Amino acid sequence: MTPKKATQQLTKQHNRDLVLRTIIENQQISRADIARATKLTRATVSEVVSGLMAEGLVEEVGLDTSGNGKPSILLSLVPDSRYLIGLNLGQDKFIGAIVNLSGEIKETVEVPIVGSDGEKALQFVYEILNQLLAKGWEPIIGIGIGTPGLVNTREGKVVDAVNLDWEDLPLASLLQERYGLPVSVLNDSQATAIGEFVYGGHRSESNLIVINVKHGIGAGILINGQLFQGDDGSAGEIGHVRVHGNDLPCRCGQIGCLETLASAQAVVRRYKELSAEAQLISLDEVEKKFVEGDGNARQVVLEAGRYLGEFIGFLAATLNIQEIILTGDMTRFGEPWLNAVRQAMLHSALERLTQNTQLEVGELDYRACILGAAAHFLMDGYALLFRQAES
Ligand SMILES: [Zn+2]
Repeated sequence: MTPKKATQQLTKQHNRDLVLRTIIENQQISRADIARATKLTRATVSEVVSGLMAEGLVEEVGLDTSGNGKPSILLSLVPDSRYLIGLNLGQDKFIGAIVNLSGEIKETVEVPIVGSDGEKALQFVYEILNQLLAKGWEPIIGIGIGTPGLVNTREGKVVDAVNLDWEDLPLASLLQERYGLPVSVLNDSQATAIGEFVYGGHRSESNLIVINVKHGIGAGILINGQLFQGDDGSAGEIGHVRVHGNDLPCRCGQIGCLETLASAQAVVRRYKELSAEAQLISLDEVEKKFVEGDGNARQVVLEAGRYLGEFIGFLAATLNIQEIILTGDMTRFGEPWLNAVRQAMLHSALERLTQNTQLEVGELDYRACILGAAAHFLMDGYALLFRQAES
């Protein structure tokens, strides 16, 4: 291709993505309003829209009669023109779903994974994908995965996921080969952050931190509407930072990690210690005691909240991001826990920085990871939506 032709094609793709993005963001919009919003000429917009309609991605949905002049035709995305698969491997089971272009979950499949790791856990990934693909939703254009552990998204590799016993697993290429579809692999907390950002009502904010507090603790950071992954892809791995004065051993091999104080497993362990319970206690049981007003349960939950809040104060001071969403198992402890987190945050950094920081509980629970893993494909552009690249 000549340089001139290459430039023309880039411009074409840029215009196409710009028009599509404008239609998606406005839900319903006329060609004239697209031209106004994008500063493209009416002729260019008409040409691009024709292409999008030919692809089945956009349709005419009615007339806008609100103006003074001739009513104009409104355009809208066809949400069911393409489907994506999103997988959440960060729960005590694998959960996958078929998701349409509006982030609507069409079908969910769960596979229990109790006691499975390594090769067996990988077989369960195949199984859940086989089941989802057999449901008959078409066309499926990509598979997005949120997995626990350290992930190299660029190479599609799980570097280290202790719970699943995966080390340097080339998950994306294994799945690409097997299913012939594009695959994206993200850390589950990063995927959750994208899900909350795109579908949890936070699109208007440019910066967002989502902290996922479950068995472990992880975070996903969005800066200027883009996932910030850091130099190595592991931005947000906050569970294993050392908390001063803490000497509890952690599953990562170090001592004193935040996870040993503020996670769901920390709460269960502390409750067992305090109440001298010999039998196995689950988080559900601690929750029941907490609701009943049991003193030990309240103490361990609020303590865990305070440790988390102190750390969030550091984050708020470092990044000055004012919207922080909490998700994961610990959010079941509701307002008392959230308040403990908030109070500790307020007092662990300059008040001027923390007083404007909003702490909220996410609305999408485990679905945020599924939706975010799928939406990740469309964050940087829409190339995947088109059947063939223009030549
Ligand atoms: Zn650790």
